[in-house]
Amino acid sequence: MTKIETQAIHAGFTPDAATGAVSPPIHLSTTFERAADGSYPLGYHYSREANPNRTALEATLAQLEGGHAAAAFGSGSVATMTLLQALAPGDHVLTSGDLYHGVRKMLTEIFALWGLESTFVDMTNNAEIEEYLQANTRLILFETPTNPRLRVTDIAAVVAMAKAVEALVAVDNTIATPLNQRPLELGADIVIHATTKYLNGHSDVLGGALVTREPSELWDRIKMIQHIGGAVPSPFDCWLTLRGLQTFPYRVRAHNENALKVAQFLSDHPNVERVYYPGLPDDPGHAVAAQQMSDFGAVVSAQVKGDAAAALAVAERVRVFTRATSFGGAHSFIEHRASIEGEGTPTPQNLLRLSVGLENADDLIADLDAALRG
Ligand SMILES: *Cc1c(COP(=O)(O)O)cnc(C)c1O
Repeated sequence: MTKIETQAIHAGFTPDAATGAVSPPIHLSTTFERAADGSYPLGYHYSREANPNRTALEATLAQLEGGHAAAAFGSGSVATMTLLQALAPGDHVLTSGDLYHGVRKMLTEIFALWGLESTFVDMTNNAEIEEYLQANTRLILFETPTNPRLRVTDIAAVVAMAKAVEALVAVDNTIATPLNQRPLELGADIVIHATTKYLNGHSDVLGGALVTREPSELWDRIKMIQHIGGAVPSPFDCWLTLRGLQTFPYRVRAHNENALKVAQFLSDHPNVERVYYPGLPDDPGHAVAAQQMSDFGAVVSAQVKGDAAAALAVAERVRVFTRATSFGGAHSFIEHRASIEGEGTPTPQNLLRLSVGLENADDLIADLDAALRG
């Protein structure tokens, strides 16, 4: 088996058979010709079902996560939505109280009406997870580390609990990426990605993916919903994401390094109340993270001393960081998370979320220092 850097470049790649082009052509065609006997000798017949650019992207994503197959979608959100659509009314989803706010809304405002039950628990607490498992729990769904509080769930422990009740485990690996964390190798059934973030890595394509560890009934339903619903990325989006993927292991390694420096700097800063980063030895998630991750990613959150206004003032003063939502791109972003998540958010009002980019860490640290000092 080749290593991840080689997979990122080679998995979805063969020089174009017709021209020898090394950068693959973008297949915009929605439909493909039948042979005289009515068959499809080249395997493609309609782009909602399969398209050569998407096939290449899905093959690459499956290989990078060490999975059996992948399904690519038009956003990270619709990837999770498809997973939930593959369940049935009366099924129960056990998930985390600290969850991407869009997924929380999906469960409470869309799927609850369609008869899917969900419970939000503290996924850092194994006893609590066990307590809330039900006879009809079909899926345990969580991110680790979470967004924006970087809380860590013990993947292998949850897999063991899920097995006991025959539930499936889906791990959102968007923040960690397959360079830093390998959920399928720890026994998870499905990995979820917003490829929008590190895998594409340039803040210019919205995309998502599901990757399965093995063939299953659930996977057949997911592929059926992808085909019937067509919430798929365009050929150009697939092409761009594959281009971004070629450098993903190197980018993420540099993101990791910069993030640790920024987190260390923030944790020593007099105007910072608390830092959330599982790479810091005193972070509550560090012990589990050190066990199941090879490095800790590049989303760092910090509570500044003071209230929401103090946090917003810091975000106002940065010059190198850009005030923007999202993460995973080359540019560093800063965001007052509670404003985005809106009323009722559990995110502290003085919390800033940083997406530590690929600029020089010294410049990022100088920028934050000046902004924190006012
Ligand atoms: C960004 C993100 C999503 C949503 O992805 P989109 O591509 O914006 O729909 C879902 N889950 C996590 C963990 C994310 O970071």
